[in-house]
Amino acid sequence: MVVGEGKHSRSAKATSVFASPLEYVTDDAASQAPAEESRMNGKSGKNGKASKNGKHGRAEQNGYAALAAADVQSAAPDQVAVMGAGDALAVFDAPTDAPAEAEFGARVTLASRTTRQSSESDGFDFALLKRLSETPGVAGREERVRALMIEALAPLTDELSVDALGNVIAIRHGRAAKGKGKANQPPRIMLAAHMDEIGFMARYIDERGFIRIQPLGGFDPRVLVGQRVIVHTRAAGPLIGALMPSSKPIHQLGDEKPGSPKIEEFYVDLGLPGERVRELVALGDSITLDRTCERLGEIVMGKAMDDRSGLFTMIQTLRRLRAHDVTIIAAATVQEEVGTRGATTAGYHAQPDVVVAIDTTLSVDSPGMPETDAVTRMGNGAAIKVFDSSAIPNYKLVDHLRRIAVRDEIPHQMEILQRGGTDAGAIQRARAGVAAVTLSIPSRYVHTVNEMVSVSDLEAAATLLARYLEDAHTGDYRF
Ligand SMILES: [Zn+2]
Repeated sequence: MVVGEGKHSRSAKATSVFASPLEYVTDDAASQAPAEESRMNGKSGKNGKASKNGKHGRAEQNGYAALAAADVQSAAPDQVAVMGAGDALAVFDAPTDAPAEAEFGARVTLASRTTRQSSESDGFDFALLKRLSETPGVAGREERVRALMIEALAPLTDELSVDALGNVIAIRHGRAAKGKGKANQPPRIMLAAHMDEIGFMARYIDERGFIRIQPLGGFDPRVLVGQRVIVHTRAAGPLIGALMPSSKPIHQLGDEKPGSPKIEEFYVDLGLPGERVRELVALGDSITLDRTCERLGEIVMGKAMDDRSGLFTMIQTLRRLRAHDVTIIAAATVQEEVGTRGATTAGYHAQPDVVVAIDTTLSVDSPGMPETDAVTRMGNGAAIKVFDSSAIPNYKLVDHLRRIAVRDEIPHQMEILQRGGTDAGAIQRARAGVAAVTLSIPSRYVHTVNEMVSVSDLEAAATLLARYLEDAHTGDYRF
């Protein structure tokens, strides 16, 4: 979920920053694309057995060539890389992203942080959600999440491609699509959830090695003090560090009151000598918050539930979907947190008639919050959005979802979010317009490392979406 309505002005600002010649846009830095994704794209790029064997360095370089080829190919609108389930399963065989030995500073092995346990006894696929949550991917550097989504969506869909911005567009045909002329095509229903998480990039490295940061997404500085972060470097892989605002420690404050830190005061301390940091870290290297995902009974807690829980819901929906007549477009989008940018191109190119964005929303049901400010309540079901500051949903589409929820007794609630938006806001305005709605996952502590979502709400959302898609061909949302 993107913060507030200010996103348009924020995105305008960010654009000017991105337009500057930062190191990360060079070919050299782009080879940071992890080996697993490069392999994947190599395959979809028709290179057959791409660099699966080579050592880390070579695999990366070779993989990048394949990646670039695949990107060029997928940018052409009439070419769609079609992949089978067999291709997809190889993606995460050997997820090594960093050199084998720790030479510089503290390094985390991301793969080892991800539990690969099987599903819980209640059938909830916690292992998948944990993997989605813990995989790093700020806006513009979603490659690891993208590889995961390609792996998950390929066996569930008929066609899959990656567009020039990095959106994954997977298409699943319905019964009605077979043997019909162009004039009689079934409605195209898009599900959209974003892959990026809020985070930072390295903006400036001072003499002593302290890294100043460029935020990617809307942060509350109060929740950032003392967090651990991972700086994703090409030279040394992921490096762990402390995120702190420049301010006096409590011991030296005396009678002064500690003020609220400002986002521009924060820096990352890698605990390494200045010259070492400047050797290893390049401007533009991405920085993610470091936090594991945990299941606490009925609640799952971790970073990036916004919007990995939306991606999770998209996968679960396709898994439990029965026969359907409509064409389903599963879009895993990029750069939502900096102003729904991926959704803008995905919504234009994929030409949906209807879009259902899946994202988290605020669950203002925690201590100190007045009853009148409640947006949703965690555990009360999937939230059908009636309003947010990015889009007023199509009311007939809202009614359709609600009718299905009532018919099948699926726990649901209606949602009005005064400030905030989702991909629905961008896709609704594509071409001549798209009937749009958002299905929300209520979440406590949105945009912190302890975002909470409820297992029962996630299950309700996937069930509601699956039942809706089976019935979507009956929908008429025209005015
Ligand atoms: Zn968000």
